Order: sequence, then structure tokens, then C-alpha cells
Amino acid sequence: AKRNPHEPEFYQAVYEVAQSVIPYINHHPEYIDARILERMTEPDRIISFRVCWEDDEGHIRVNRGYRVQFNNAIGPYKGGLRFTSHLTLDTLKFLGFEQTFKNSLTTLPLGAAKGGSDFNPKGKSDREVMRFCQSFMSELHKHIGVYTDIPAGDIGVGGREISYLFGQYKRLENQFQGVLTGKGLEYGGSLIRKEATGFGTTYFMEEILKEHGSSLEGKKCVISGSGNVALYTAEKVMQLGGHVLAMSDSSGTIHIPDGISREQLDWLIDLKENRRGRIQEFAEHFQCEFLPDTKVWGIPCQIAFACATQNELEKSDAQQLIKNGCIAVAEGANMPSTLEAVHLFKKNNILFAPAKAANAGGVAVSGLEMTQNSMRLSWSMEELEDRLKTIMQKIHSQCIKYGRGEGETIDYVRGANIAGFKKVADAMLAYGVV
Ligand code: NDP
Repeated sequence: AKRNPHEPEFYQAVYEVAQSVIPYINHHPEYIDARILERMTEPDRIISFRVCWEDDEGHIRVNRGYRVQFNNAIGPYKGGLRFTSHLTLDTLKFLGFEQTFKNSLTTLPLGAAKGGSDFNPKGKSDREVMRFCQSFMSELHKHIGVYTDIPAGDIGVGGREISYLFGQYKRLENQFQGVLTGKGLEYGGSLIRKEATGFGTTYFMEEILKEHGSSLEGKKCVISGSGNVALYTAEKVMQLGGHVLAMSDSSGTIHIPDGISREQLDWLIDLKENRRGRIQEFAEHFQCEFLPDTKVWGIPCQIAFACATQNELEKSDAQQLIKNGCIAVAEGANMPSTLEAVHLFKKNNILFAPAKAANAGGVAVSGLEMTQNSMRLSWSMEELEDRLKTIMQKIHSQCIKYGRGEGETIDYVRGANIAGFKKVADAMLAYGVV
């Protein structure tokens, strides 16, 4: 804390990993002697820059851009860009640190980074977003490249923003390279990328349930958020026979007692992806209950998917879920559960899928987008979905390998942390003192 003052989210992420990894490395002194865990908590570099742009009224606006290049021991830096008000370096350091372990778990050669800006695209015109993205890339392009660092989207950075960023990179470098992932299909994007995180989270949950003699079929589910991850979690949950009773955005929760229908989900996807509307409009359109300023966790369910943002699932929410009979929780978002909530899940034997394992499908398909760009080929939907499913199954096996404790209990947090750590740590050991 002395070295990184005022970074509570970063401490939270490091604490969670250290809790699992320290007992493990105590039996592996080579990691202690080389101070690997300490080295992993220090980003390779942090780039911070001014982003100046002009709004539609002709006023000059100033934002701050960042790229935190965290660790490239096992591959080029890779991780999303987040555009949201009040974005801090603390948040980006926690996300970059988490990304190190997640990317390691994917089985692909991917290092870790995260970046973004305190620019909020909400309420901005397309042209304003374009001018911002062009200005942002005018600096970022100096620090990224197909063998150096390949950013992607995250909160506030979807297809529109990636397209503006990619267009500007191409213009500045005069090269057509797969330097961003999440691109449009017309210019090097991959099928399934949009769906990957949500589909992957659901496959991971299905694996956990299978391991414990159950499945998603007929299960009552709630999903927080209604962004990229949440919408495609809902789609896959429904495909696997589950019922989605509630979804949300930052203004409140919609409650659909019989489960959202395919037609309703399509309407919601269109509302969120194309019309940039609020979830309340869904409730008005379909005459269902809207609970303003309320989270989804109070709606009784068997399975909960946290797919909105960090620390959205607190101790009291965990208590509520447990009281209502929830048996399993998966983190589609990054670090959505507080440490107290995770502790409660563990104490009550709730099956708990931590973010770095459960939401790794997004970056995995980004990795597959990079592979396709390098080969100058595109795989089919079936091929990609198969690969995504296999990767999620492999992540599940790694979690089991390092997370099986006494008797039958599997600690997925410990499993994911140790498996993710080991690959990166071994590469760092091999490089010597660098
Ligand atoms: P989006 O911006 O597409 O969606 C975020 C959603 O969360 C929106 O519906 C937003 O509502 C909602 N939300 C934000 N804050 C709150 C809150 N306090 N309470 C309730 N809802 C809230 O982002 P993504 O879906 O891409 O990302 C969501 C999470 O998943 C993030 O943690 C991200 O880092 C993580 N993730 C994303 C991946 C990806 O491939 N996209 C990959 C791996 C992880 P509103 O519109 O009102 O703000």
C-alpha cells in the first residue's frame, strides 16, 4: 500500500490472488527466491497521455488516456480499453493484473494489459466519439503493434469505438494489421467475438454444474447488466435450457417471472446495441416489472451471473442470494464480487466461478481473431464455437487440477489463481532476472 497509495481495487485483486498463491509458493521456493509474485504485481510500464478533442459546439475538451502494459512473459500485451467517466489508474491496474492470470488460463500465448480513458461515450454524438477515438489513437499507436500490444474493447468500447480506433491506426501507420480485436467482420474481425465472453461464461457454468451432477436445463437465472457480456450470457443460458428472470442496467432491474423469451431478448439486444436505450424501455414495451435503483440479486434464483461491473455484488447481496436458494454464481464481469461476498459463497458451499476463469472466453476468441488475421483466413461460426467451448473446458480442468481440496470440494478461485500463476511464473523464471 505504501508503494501504491490509494489503489483499493488493485489491492483487492492482488490480495485475492496472494491468498491462493502464497500457500502454493511456500512449497515451491524457486518462486520465492526469484520474488516472482512481487515482480508480477509491478506493471512492465504505465503510459499516460493527454487526449484533446473538439465537441460539436466547437469547445475543446481534455481527457486522460492510459495503457497499462502489465506483463508480456507469455505473449504480446493483450487486454481491453475502457471508456467511462472517473476511470482511474487504480481500476486499470487491477484489470491489468487480473488479465495476466486470465490470459494465461486461456492456453493461448497472450500477455496482459489494460487501458482506456475517463471519456464517457454516453450522450456523445457519433462524430464526437469519432474525434475522441482519433485523438486517443494518435498517441496510443506509438505504443501498440501486432507483436507488441493488441488492445480490444471493454466497458464503453464496442464495435463503433473499435472501428474508429482501427481506422485511425491504419491511417497513421499506413499498414493494415490486426492490431485491435473486436473488429468488424468486413475488416478482419472474427465471428463469435461479440458473443464470446457471455457464451464462454455460460459454458464454464455448465461445466461446473456437470462436474456436480447437474446442468442449466430448467434453472432459474438472474444476470446483472445488459451490455455485451450480459446479453450473450442470456442468449446461451436460454439455448442451454435455463430461464432468465432478471437483467439490469445502472438505473434498475427488469423482472420477467416466466423468463425472458427469444423475441424479448432480440428486442433488448437491438435496444442496447443499436438504439443505446435504457432497460426501463423494455419494461414499458413488454409491460413487465421495473425495479428502479435495484440490483438483480433480490430476485430468487438458482444461478446468478454477475456481468455488469466491479464490486456490484456485495456482502448483503450474497446473503440475499444464499437465503433465496442460489446454488452457483459466475463472474462474467471483472471482480464483480467483493471479498466479503466471495468469502460468504465459500463458507456456504456455493459453487463460485471467478472472473479470470469464467470470463476468459472473450480474450480467448480475441486470441483466435489474432490467429485468423495472421493466417489471413476466417474460421466458420461452428469452428469458432467449438474452439471456444474446448478452451472453457480446458480452463475448467486446470481449475480442478489446482483447486481440488480435501474430499470433494473444488475451490475454483484457488484453482484459477494457481494455474494462471504457474505458467507466467515459469516463463519469468526461465528469462532470469529481468
Ligand atoms: P458494457 O459497457 O457493454 O455493459 C456494461 C453493463 O453493465 C451495462 O448494461 C451497464 O449499464 C451495466 N452497469 C454498469 N454499472 C452498473 C451498476 N453499477 N449496476 C448495474 N449495472 C451496471 O460492458 P461489457 O459487457 O463489455 O463489460 C461488462 C464487464 O465484463 C466488465 O467488468 C468488463 O471488464 C468485463 N469483461 C468484458 C469482456 C468483453 O468481452 N466485453 C471480456 C471480459 C470481461 P449502463 O448502460 O446503465 O451503464
